[in-house]
Amino acid sequence: MQNKPLSTIDTLQKSFKPIEEIETSRLIYELEVHQIELEMQNEELLQTQNQVKEEVEKLAAYARKYATLYDFAPSGYCTLSRAGDIMELNLSAAKMLGKDRGRLINNRLALYVSPETQPRYHLFLESIFNDKAKHTCEIILSVNERSPMHVLLAGTVDETEERCFINVIDITERKQAKETLLLQNKISEQHTAELVLANRELTLKSKENEKLTAALNASNKKLITAMQLSDQAVQKYFTLYNIAPCAYFTLSRHSKIIELNLRGAQLLGRQKLTLKGKLFSAFITVESKPVFDHFVEKIFETNLSQTCELSLAMDGRPPMFLHLEGSLTDNGEHCFLTMLDISARKEKEDKIRQLSQAVEQSPVSIIITNTSGSIEYVNSKFAENTGYNFEEVKGKNIAVLNSGHTTDEEYAALWQALKEGCEWHGEFHNKKKNGQFYWESAAFSCIQNTAGETTHYLAITEDITYRKHSEARLVKYAKELKNVNSDLENFAFIASHDLQEPLRMVNSFLNLVERRLDSQLDETTRQYIRFVIDGADRMKILIRDLLQYSRIGTNKEEFSAVDLNAVFAHLQNVLRETIDLNNAVIKVQSLPVIIANDTLVHELLLNLLTNALKYRGYDPPQIEAGCVEETSRYVLFVKDNGIGINVEYFDKIFIIFQRLHARSSYPGTGIGLAICRRIAELHKGKIWVESEEGKGSTFFVSFPKSAE
Ligand code: ADP
Repeated sequence: MQNKPLSTIDTLQKSFKPIEEIETSRLIYELEVHQIELEMQNEELLQTQNQVKEEVEKLAAYARKYATLYDFAPSGYCTLSRAGDIMELNLSAAKMLGKDRGRLINNRLALYVSPETQPRYHLFLESIFNDKAKHTCEIILSVNERSPMHVLLAGTVDETEERCFINVIDITERKQAKETLLLQNKISEQHTAELVLANRELTLKSKENEKLTAALNASNKKLITAMQLSDQAVQKYFTLYNIAPCAYFTLSRHSKIIELNLRGAQLLGRQKLTLKGKLFSAFITVESKPVFDHFVEKIFETNLSQTCELSLAMDGRPPMFLHLEGSLTDNGEHCFLTMLDISARKEKEDKIRQLSQAVEQSPVSIIITNTSGSIEYVNSKFAENTGYNFEEVKGKNIAVLNSGHTTDEEYAALWQALKEGCEWHGEFHNKKKNGQFYWESAAFSCIQNTAGETTHYLAITEDITYRKHSEARLVKYAKELKNVNSDLENFAFIASHDLQEPLRMVNSFLNLVERRLDSQLDETTRQYIRFVIDGADRMKILIRDLLQYSRIGTNKEEFSAVDLNAVFAHLQNVLRETIDLNNAVIKVQSLPVIIANDTLVHELLLNLLTNALKYRGYDPPQIEAGCVEETSRYVLFVKDNGIGINVEYFDKIFIIFQRLHARSSYPGTGIGLAICRRIAELHKGKIWVESEEGKGSTFFVSFPKSAE
């Protein structure tokens, strides 16, 4: 208590009796002091009241900001009662449940949970209230006429323990892209925890504010911290948006680019900033424009998420294929697009389409079975060949075509080869649907997976019925031809052999007639008889030659190693007299040893050398023999400088009895080269000539290296 001022005491002493006066004065004095104290306190209170008002206004501003943040947060939030009724929820949560926010309040959240995740959801809710700890669970929201949505719930009870906060995150996308999902999930959980914390603190502070003004400042500080954390979370979302592996675009109704992330700019091949305000449709191919326009129109018209595929024009490069998913933004003014580059997938699809078309249009039948032999695929050629369409043989064993003409052993060999991972080639005599038999050539092989395990068998078959019949016909014709040839040979042999005898008779009896009637014959008759004898002589020679020709190849001649050098040496000895008479020079190069019939080779080369000497020109004959070795044969040649042959007779001279000259000019019957050809063919070789009239001829004979 303060001392009273002296003037007041004096006044009091003068006005009252001594003791009572003093007591009264003291009381008055105390009252005055008390009043002053009260006035001072009153002033302080007024100040505090103003401060409180200011703090309350600030707090209200923060609360409004928080409410906006809560409402427009990208993930869903809702507050549930202990019974699971929705007490409060933000816009994202309402969108996930597919109704207006107002119509969801007091609804039970369980109504939107799919039956199979109901037990998990109830356990989750119970745990939150029992443990008072944070719990998470994944459930499926099942909302009428919408595909089920996978969501992650994270919840915690509030301090009243009568309600809980649930953070709802759409994880449908995340299910498909697990890695991105994990990252987002973590951030989302952190964000949820931060927001729940901030929320709890804010609620606490709001209550305390009503009672304690002093706690306001501390509460505000914590609120700001929470907001900073929230800002950081938003920043994190923004970073994630920007660096996401898929492209994001926000477009206006007229496809103007409002916002995009880095991947989006990269897809369009431009700087992010230069793209804002540009028309997205300017970057797509002409063919994709109608698709894109319809897609955007549908989003705005239905307010439902839409998808489409289109291609981006790439400035001279092949177009890039994109998968687009779009939906309206919350305010309904723009659409939000997610884009994925599916060019690689498209390319694969194209490849697969090409391959399956090739298989489908293949000119051979293609059958794919599982490892038990059950048919899983046949192409159209199969249907054409067998009469069975795919539906008729699907799941059936490939033995459906079995005609009973293939033995069990043959089938066993086929399956054994496939079991060992080997290929099998062979022929089947199978039966068509209409019962007709047909031949097919087949190749079976294994189809293996990346681990090298056989998953299927592939059979490629070709109808060879026509070829088989042709082959059979050919074999038949060859046999018939052989028979005819052999008949002809027999005929030639018999004819030439049997003609000799009557000819000899004609000759000898004419000689006899000539001698007997010698004195009676005039000169003309004598000449006629000579003509007949000459003709018979010539006929004898022709028959001899024909006999010689027809004998070649009928004796199953032995083949052995024949040294051509030795053959030429021997022939030069045989022809020595003619060689000398003609002043001929014969040069023989080093020759190989061939597999042939020695006698026939002698005869062939004797004919060629004789002709080379016989058909000489004015100059003495210059004859050269040699051999060229080729991959599979030896080509022997005999070259002369004789009269030569006109090109038009190159073939004719090898025909029996065909000659180019009169007998008076060059003797002979025209059998020599025909015999040469026969001998060459018997050795599976050929004979041919190259020549120039007046310059000489070269005869070539080929002998295969192998006797086969
Ligand atoms: P021939 O010698 O008995 O007439 P060939 O069958 O040996 O019978 O020959 C057929 C024909 O081929 C001969 O008439 C001849 O015109 C022609 N000829 C064969 N060898 C030669 C050759 N070296 N030079 C020119 N012509 C030839």
